[in-house]
Amino acid sequence: MNWITAFRDRLGVKIFISYLVIIIIGAVVLIGTAEVQAPAALNRHIERMREIVGEDPELVEDLMVNYLSATAEILAVATGVAVIAALAVSFFTTRRIIRPIEHMLQASQDIAVGDYHRRVPVVSSDELGRMAAAFNSMAATLERTEERRLALIGDVAHELRTPLGGIKGTMEGLIDGVLPAEAETFINVQREVYRLQRLVQDLEELSRAEAGQIVLKRQSVDAALLVRNVIEKLAPQYADKGVSLSLDLPLNHPGVHVDPERVTQILVNLLGNALQYTPSGGEVRVSSASGEGEWITEVVDTGIGIAGHDLPHIFERFYRVDKSRSRPGGGSGVGLTIARHLAQAHGGSITASSPGLGHGSTFTLSLPIEQ
Ligand code: ADP
Repeated sequence: MNWITAFRDRLGVKIFISYLVIIIIGAVVLIGTAEVQAPAALNRHIERMREIVGEDPELVEDLMVNYLSATAEILAVATGVAVIAALAVSFFTTRRIIRPIEHMLQASQDIAVGDYHRRVPVVSSDELGRMAAAFNSMAATLERTEERRLALIGDVAHELRTPLGGIKGTMEGLIDGVLPAEAETFINVQREVYRLQRLVQDLEELSRAEAGQIVLKRQSVDAALLVRNVIEKLAPQYADKGVSLSLDLPLNHPGVHVDPERVTQILVNLLGNALQYTPSGGEVRVSSASGEGEWITEVVDTGIGIAGHDLPHIFERFYRVDKSRSRPGGGSGVGLTIARHLAQAHGGSITASSPGLGHGSTFTLSLPIEQ
């Protein structure tokens, strides 16, 4: 029964047996043809010889026996050599095919137990090589996903720690009688609870955005109107902080086919950030214009600016330039991440630029114009 298991479980044995089958068929065909064709051809030859040298039954018999035994010998040697060749060729072919497969098998087992760094060597450009390359790219995606998952757990834990610490401290103060049981103490606790609530909402929104599950309710809207509405909505907060807000709109503005609520959300985030990171006395200018097939809105502030090494990261979730900054009124550090996802869901983009710290920032939202 052992050879049946070997045949079922080993690719090498299967390849060798397939070669063997071809050799056996070849040999059988060769023997069959020799048996039928050779005596007839020899008889024709003997007939001609008989005409020349006369009748000699012994010579004919001898010739026939010698010929047939020579043919059988040649066939036996050829078949033996072919079997040895099949063994050698199947051994090398098997090594070439099985090695990469074994590598992938081992690597996938390692990845399954959490070793996401595992890759396999890509040694050829044939199907096996392409399979190895595809395996590596799948492993890289898994590794990135795992890294993001771990980072997310760390980030969420970090974000939860601050408000929870605040609540715990206040409650302990109240219990010990260090803090007075008055409205202000409770308002502090309430503020931290709101912060937790906002974080949870942001996380829900972020997970929907990252999973591509945001459903857009698109409609044809006047692009300029959207911008103007957001400006009007935020103008009082700008006035409160003493940051000037100006708007520059062209006379002709195109229609855009977008979800107005989501685009408003993006603009509120950009203008909210501009307000938050611009000290009082500063200035924020909003301008919109249509470019090639796109509607571009720029939010330019004279605020704290962003250092070159931070710029590529500010759209990453929970990335904050000033990690130690306490942000009782700020977001959870995911606003820009969500905004970028929303813009991309519309087929648009958001980019940021800044001449450096202390020199303000420019955020550019681009949305495709309705065709
Ligand atoms: P949040 O503002 O809640 O921290 P965001 O995702 O909106 O989160 O922004 C991420 C980071 O990008 C901010 O923490 C800030 O460091 C930086 N940033 C965003 N907008 C501006 C801006 N207008 N000026 C300077 N820095 C900014």
